Amino acid sequence: MPMIGVYFDQAKNYLPAVRAALLKCDPALEVVDWSEALTVPDRVDYVFVWRPPAGDLKKFTSLKAIFSAAAGVDHIVRHDPDWPVHVPLIRMGDGDTALLMGDYVLWACLTLLRGAHAWALQQQAREWKREVVTRPSGSCTVSVLGLGHLGGRVATHLRDAGFGVRGWSRRPHTMDGIACFAGPDELDHAVRDADFVVCLLPDTPSTSGILNARLFSLFAPGAGVINVGRSSHLVEADLIARLDDGHLGGAVLDVFDVEPLPAASPLWSHARITITPHVASQASIGSRMAYVVEAMRQLNRGEMPPLAYDAQRGY
Ligand code: NDP
Repeated sequence: MPMIGVYFDQAKNYLPAVRAALLKCDPALEVVDWSEALTVPDRVDYVFVWRPPAGDLKKFTSLKAIFSAAAGVDHIVRHDPDWPVHVPLIRMGDGDTALLMGDYVLWACLTLLRGAHAWALQQQAREWKREVVTRPSGSCTVSVLGLGHLGGRVATHLRDAGFGVRGWSRRPHTMDGIACFAGPDELDHAVRDADFVVCLLPDTPSTSGILNARLFSLFAPGAGVINVGRSSHLVEADLIARLDDGHLGGAVLDVFDVEPLPAASPLWSHARITITPHVASQASIGSRMAYVVEAMRQLNRGEMPPLAYDAQRGY
């Protein structure tokens, strides 16, 4: 009986729901919580984890795969220097996660385009102030940084909603109706005069600090920034400076250095920043567990699931 150990939002006690969803897809699995898994480390075949205690993963000597509870793996590879790099590390990649991200980014672009943050502030103040936006989405260009599992879906979602879309990735991509750019030399072309720039890159040394003053200066005046990648991508002081001097029109931020975002953060009260609590895209437990079981089947057939972490690429 294959055994899977679970370390996932321990405080919220999701284990019963995770177990039920896994068993629905594969009744032969033995699903155990982390403390039980640690008592039989050589019997554990798989683990499903969100930020497990550093040093624990290397104790499982028979692991066939590590399933990340998230699309990013920084909560494993950055957090635990001893994680067993020889074991396949599979990123979360169920279809709902990509669809939900598409919906969130479409909402964020429309929020920025129509100035919806100001409406929320006016409502709190019972203020009736009509600043009508006459610009339709079809006249706006959105640049999506990262065209992977999530960014690719976001790009087509925005294209289908009528936005002009450009995308940027490490390797060249071809996508219908989307102007694709690749590599460091084409970054400036990808974002020049963009009305909205969306970051959906992984957290790696080469993407750190990419949303900075130099890049912002290339965007169209009044442009909006949407960061749904990781907080490491954004130079917060540069964002605030360019919002305050009026070059940028607004920002929607979903990811932060410290989460929950501390009450003292200046981001909370900035009139042009919309904050969401890292909720852009989190699919149901059922959808995620179905993905995990399908990936186990692929591994058992000797196939590597498409969203396996590649240590050389760093994502
Ligand atoms: P993928 O690995 O599928 O895609 C990453 C994309 O980034 C690829 O297109 C890749 O290029 C590109 N890329 C990586 N490095 C570079 C670089 N140096 N220069 C240019 N392009 C680069 O990841 P996902 O789409 O699944 O996820 C992206 C990120 O989204 C995650 O790492 C995570 O941080 C974040 N996320 C946020 C969530 C939220 O709720 N806010 C939820 C889930 C994820 P190429 O195609 O050439 O490989």
